[in-house]
Amino acid sequence: MRAVASVLHLDLDAFFAAVEQRDKPSLRGKPVVVGGVGGRGVVSTASYEARKYGVRSAMSTREARSRCPHAAFLSGRFHAYRSTSERVMAVLREASPLVEPLSLDEAFVDLATARLPDLEIPTVTALAEQLRRQVEEVTGGLTASVGVGTSKFIAKVASELDKPDGLVVVPPGTEMDLLRPMHVSVIPGVGPATTERLRRAGIHTVADLETVSEDELIRMLGTAHGHALHQLGHARDDRPVVPERETKSVSVEGTYDTDLTDRRLMAALLTRQARNVSDRLRTSGLAGRTVTIKVRLHDFTTISRSTTLGSPTNTAGTIGRLAVGLLQDLETTGGVRLLGVGVSGLADWIQEDLFGDTDDADEAAKAGDDLDADAPSTAGAKTTTHTWAPGMDVEHAEMGRGWVWGSGRGVVTVRFETAETPPGPVRSYRIDDPDLRPWRPESGTGATLAP
Ligand SMILES: [Mg+2]
Repeated sequence: MRAVASVLHLDLDAFFAAVEQRDKPSLRGKPVVVGGVGGRGVVSTASYEARKYGVRSAMSTREARSRCPHAAFLSGRFHAYRSTSERVMAVLREASPLVEPLSLDEAFVDLATARLPDLEIPTVTALAEQLRRQVEEVTGGLTASVGVGTSKFIAKVASELDKPDGLVVVPPGTEMDLLRPMHVSVIPGVGPATTERLRRAGIHTVADLETVSEDELIRMLGTAHGHALHQLGHARDDRPVVPERETKSVSVEGTYDTDLTDRRLMAALLTRQARNVSDRLRTSGLAGRTVTIKVRLHDFTTISRSTTLGSPTNTAGTIGRLAVGLLQDLETTGGVRLLGVGVSGLADWIQEDLFGDTDDADEAAKAGDDLDADAPSTAGAKTTTHTWAPGMDVEHAEMGRGWVWGSGRGVVTVRFETAETPPGPVRSYRIDDPDLRPWRPESGTGATLAP
């Protein structure tokens, strides 16, 4: 915890849904649900209009449809989210070199390294307002909620307080006044299992937690978790803002057609990936000290967790055991769409880093497949038959650009509009109409370099 409020957390509001409403004028002000549209699909993001009907992230799409049948159910466009996110991150990096993205729509910014005359409340408040205005400008009208405080924990809590389109600055010294009435689950790392253990001990709020000694928490939850909870329960958080850096690593990852929820299956997949990583390290004569897992949740939030050994390893058993151990501390009940294992801290480096998302187009294609579990995978298929996923961008030889409103019975229905047009007309075509094709931006993000 710092003496000044110099950690900023910015979170775009209902990000995927907001991008869809920006690019599809007829959906502005209407309920929009982005996620898996197939039989076992899960909601990634609901617009605020859909949330009024009780639609939430991680809910099954089936339930979302029954709560809000008139919403637009879209399968998601990763390329649009990624390029919008990149513009936002660029704005933040202009303000400070220390930016830590947490996912496409969320980042911490260290204001201690920003060019500011001081870090007093009026100064950081003005900067936060300026960033919100700039984000709205570069994204074509998306709103962000911002929190500023003396630590990551407080900044993140603050950004949630006045969503959407809000700004909350927590003055130094008032952290516990803010936290005390809140439920313990506001603390990072307190998932359903920990909440339940605390509840059984009569601990519900942060105020309740404040009265419990560190020794007692360690007895209840183990050394690492007990200590961390005691610190955070007193608003003590010294975690630094860490910018994404290039890491020397060998890693393997996989994306899955349906969101994984079975922990044993996830452990088995990590174990297999660990063997794969081990093989590659051995053939390159390498070993590393840090084992990392990467987990992408149903809502595209990407989490990595790592642990560092005293000496380098390249044995499959050790890497696998550490990877499975790291998974155990993560909350994955909403489903997992990507898992990966990596080893870094290598003595030597081969020019390969699968965690670096170097193949954006491939990644986006996989993400698209993931979002629609029932759609046949067209990856690699040399055929002109397209999968017309609801919401996807298309271009018609005469009508120009639009998006797939729906398809079935050999017919695809398209609404012809873009971010720059008024709400446009709807037309239907045969699914194999040669005049209709998927549209992707030609340059910029989403494109991949030729090998
Ligand atoms: Mg958000």
